[in-house]
Amino acid sequence: MTSSDYNLLTTLLQIEDQNRCLRLVTEVLCEFYDDEIGDFRVRHNPKFTYAPGDIPIMLVAHCDTVCYQPVMRIGACTANDGVSTAITNMDQAPLGADDRAGIFIILKLVAAGYRPHILLTTDEEIGGGGAIAAAESIATPDIKFILELDRMGSNDAAMYDCDNKEFKEMLRGYGFTPVSGTFSDICFFAPEWDIAAANLSVGYYHEHTPWEMLVIKEMENTIKIVMQILDNVDNFPYYKFEPCEYKPSYYQHYFYDGDDWDYQGAMDDINFRAEMSYIAHKEMTKKKKKKKKKQEDSHNGKRSNS
Ligand SMILES: [Zn+2]
Repeated sequence: MTSSDYNLLTTLLQIEDQNRCLRLVTEVLCEFYDDEIGDFRVRHNPKFTYAPGDIPIMLVAHCDTVCYQPVMRIGACTANDGVSTAITNMDQAPLGADDRAGIFIILKLVAAGYRPHILLTTDEEIGGGGAIAAAESIATPDIKFILELDRMGSNDAAMYDCDNKEFKEMLRGYGFTPVSGTFSDICFFAPEWDIAAANLSVGYYHEHTPWEMLVIKEMENTIKIVMQILDNVDNFPYYKFEPCEYKPSYYQHYFYDGDDWDYQGAMDDINFRAEMSYIAHKEMTKKKKKKKKKQEDSHNGKRSNS
């Protein structure tokens, strides 16, 4: 990692407020997107920013973190493998690499000249408020699939309730292992737009805890692979959202059944997220039903008038 990359990364980690992060990154996107991509304009509102691009793949990351205090001192540590370098918050508090690492990756890709569709959200950690707003107000984008950059670890592709076999195979071909997960923003986009989505590992570990760390090498590896995927865009079909047969993840509750959890309260945290996403999902389904009924009513009204 170059020193200017390191500066960019630590600057992103130290932005305390999610709205400020969203605004700053949006300004950068406007610079790159608005001039170059004629008919489109970056759409920014308090809850999300959407930059339509000319590569029909959408990248997603969220601006909020679970940091309960400003990130002041970032330092190096050794990753779990005992060899790789990671960075962490030296004040024994969360680092916020979840998901500023995803934001960093997007900025790096844009700086390298890639113009995929980009969606930046807020409030992911408290039930996906930004994602719900985006799913409701953005018309189905003309894209082949969605990649979120917001997963712990080095090579997961979290699929949640999306079960498109060909899409999974494609991701395996790039070294990612499809896994299930509790919840993230794409849980709203994939079913709403009928487009397959996966959440890729970006190299952070122990997120939401004082031991959160970001393994630089693993984050850089994800950047490299996403570049390859974007380069290869012409060779992919459109991958449809195919819901799992089994109960969606947000209806499940998780129970402690081992001793490998990183910190006390980990299960509470996971259950809280599952609960929040369940509530949010119910809310969206209700709204969708209402919207559909309204459309039907007005349709029927028109017919009875004619
Ligand atoms: Zn996250």
